Amino acid sequence: MTSPVASLAPVSSAPLQVTTYRCASAAVDGELTGPVDIACADGLIVSIGPPGDSCDEVLPGVVLPGFADAHSHLFHRGLRGRTHGDSHGVGSFWTWRETMYSLADRLTPETFGALAVAVYTEMVCAGFTAVGEFHYLHHAQGGGRYADPNAMGIAAGQAALDVGIGLTLLDVAYFAGGFGVALDASQQRFTDGSADAWAERVASLGPALPDGRFAGIRAGAAIHSVRAVPVRELPEVARFAQAAGMPLHVHLSEQRAENEAALAATGRTPTQLLDDAGALSDRTAAVHATHLTPGDINLLGAARSSIVICPTTEADLADGLPEAGALHAAGAPLTLGGDQHVITDPFAQARGLEYGERLATGVRGTFSPAVLLEVATAASHRAIGSAAGRIEVGAPADFIAVDTGSARTAGSDGLGMMLTASAADVAVVVVGGVVQARGGVHVRLGDPGALLVKAIEEAWSR
Ligand SMILES: [Zn+2]
Repeated sequence: MTSPVASLAPVSSAPLQVTTYRCASAAVDGELTGPVDIACADGLIVSIGPPGDSCDEVLPGVVLPGFADAHSHLFHRGLRGRTHGDSHGVGSFWTWRETMYSLADRLTPETFGALAVAVYTEMVCAGFTAVGEFHYLHHAQGGGRYADPNAMGIAAGQAALDVGIGLTLLDVAYFAGGFGVALDASQQRFTDGSADAWAERVASLGPALPDGRFAGIRAGAAIHSVRAVPVRELPEVARFAQAAGMPLHVHLSEQRAENEAALAATGRTPTQLLDDAGALSDRTAAVHATHLTPGDINLLGAARSSIVICPTTEADLADGLPEAGALHAAGAPLTLGGDQHVITDPFAQARGLEYGERLATGVRGTFSPAVLLEVATAASHRAIGSAAGRIEVGAPADFIAVDTGSARTAGSDGLGMMLTASAADVAVVVVGGVVQARGGVHVRLGDPGALLVKAIEEAWSR
């Protein structure tokens, strides 16, 4: 049983509409409680305590904080199931990238926006209440500018608002095709040409994003990789993010080829280049961090930079296994991302982290179920500048109810469901105190499958 905790006093004198959810059990402060009422108003949790006389809704199963996907490329959802078979060749990371460029070439703000609605609907129905969108598809085909140079980012922002998922739009700096290599034709849509031009566009993006009262639309910054931002421009991107108080994300050492190219061109590892540029801090999130040296791990740990592991994508692309346990021990908070959306399932991602570590080390339990929950919720939210991810008074009212009586979860003990549940077990999703999805169906937009079929077909048809 949880004990009653202090309630938040309303800030204004206007009466707030309070919605109370009754939970048979909830993960409060990382521990499962007995029966508890969670009261929400104005998008926040305003009280948590023993069940009262009445409630607005009884939630089934166990209630967990909403998950965050700290690394999404929403349009990669259009590649799912199309890069494995004989007709496409099994291929490598690099041939997968060619297919991705082919899709990127076709998208317009309209088809990108429709795909964003479908993808974010799938995500919120799966239990994600916030997403960090690593957004680099900025400009028109061939590199021309839209009338509003942020048209694509705004389309993603509007989609998040329509769906009711928190969004951090991590706007990506991308100026080169490699060390000393110019961009090719398919990469022209990604580039602003220089850090100055990128910063100018990003500075105008924040005010242009639709500001959802409950959805939490946030602007963030990103370095695509040390391949794509020349060494001399890295400090400027880092300084911009720091001055704006934005999270700064970067793809780091996903492929050994990146390390080899960095060493050949500069004599430094990608992590060392970021450190040299002042780009490593506790607001930085290094995505993948698969192939690191012990020195790299120490740098990331000392800076308290987050690491975004993307277990399902890294397995799909045969990237290799990160040294997750060593990074965690060094002090780098671990977080999770879905990346190319090969699977949209927060539980698969969480157990993928532990399974990868088991396969690499021969040891079970480096990450306990409680740690996996922390990684997938509070730590992943923090990495994208979201205050959600905890069920506590004052936190955003973002939480989910997980069915504990399905064929997958029946018999699971406590948080053992982190190793057994799937997205199909997410029964109810609440964002900003409002129910957004029930039983895998969005309350306003319907079945995500139908939305995806249409949006993917249209995306490839151009
Ligand atoms: Zn990525």
